[in-house]
Amino acid sequence: MIVDFHCHSDCSDGQLSPVELIKRAEQRNIQMLSITDHDTLDAYQQKIKTPIKIITGIEFSSQWNKVGIHVVGLNVDAKSKQLQQVVVAQKLQRLKRAEIIAKRLEKLGLKDALKTIQESQKKQFIGRPDFAQLLVNQGICTDFNQAFKKYLGAGKIGDVKNQWKKLDEVICAITQAGGVAVLAHPLYYQLTNSKLRRLLTDFKKAGGVGLEVVNGYQNPDKTGYLSKLCQEFEFKASIGSDFHSPNQWKKLGCDSRLIAELNPVWAEF
Ligand code: AMP
Ligand code: MN
Ligand code: MN
Ligand code: MN
Repeated sequence: MIVDFHCHSDCSDGQLSPVELIKRAEQRNIQMLSITDHDTLDAYQQKIKTPIKIITGIEFSSQWNKVGIHVVGLNVDAKSKQLQQVVVAQKLQRLKRAEIIAKRLEKLGLKDALKTIQESQKKQFIGRPDFAQLLVNQGICTDFNQAFKKYLGAGKIGDVKNQWKKLDEVICAITQAGGVAVLAHPLYYQLTNSKLRRLLTDFKKAGGVGLEVVNGYQNPDKTGYLSKLCQEFEFKASIGSDFHSPNQWKKLGCDSRLIAELNPVWAEF
């Protein structure tokens, strides 16, 4: 079976609209799909006709100690008051963060960054990729990767700490909305093995249910390592492409056979 429980539309930092994304998923024979935009459920504002089983989802940014952690919420009730409260708070936080990033980037000679971004796009969502694009457009960076490496990635000037809700708060909101909380791309945070284990322990204690064992194209060694952790901590397994745009090397859809030996998070959807 081909499924995808992690991808982005243009309601956050993806390129395709929810309709285009679902069309693409149909062409790729995907049977179950969740659009998991960063901190927003806007992709679910319109009902889209499709034979694909659509699972309402979101990818929350959160804070665990000093580390930024992403939590995917799957099968949530988009009308949940508790969930909506967190979404509203995160939206506000995202705008405040954009103001701080813009201010910090002034040091590089980047003037009116926020205004430039806001005027160049219709949507309100602003993420670090928008600043990366601006740094490239203004010739300050040669490409996206360099922009993250030098200015926007973890520990750099454009990385604003303590902006998001705490890890346990977003897990709680997802759970209260009837959904399951999945730890997104566990190896992306570059934690030591012992720190990752501490994260998994805290994640589970706060009500986390799933581990994203596959994120996009992934080295089989990594899948093996995460599969072991998934079993050891008795998590359910989730898989997703983290697709953002068609010209990216990541493709929409994941083969469920990659986690054949684990309990899939989608079994009860
Ligand atoms: P934000 O949600 O505003 O914190 O932005 C994070 C997003 O930036 C991620 O979801 C990715 O889409 C993108 N991103 C993070 N790191 C990189 C990188 N090194 N190169 C390109 N895009 C990145
Ligand atoms: Mn993204
Ligand atoms: Mn993420
Ligand atoms: Mn993502």
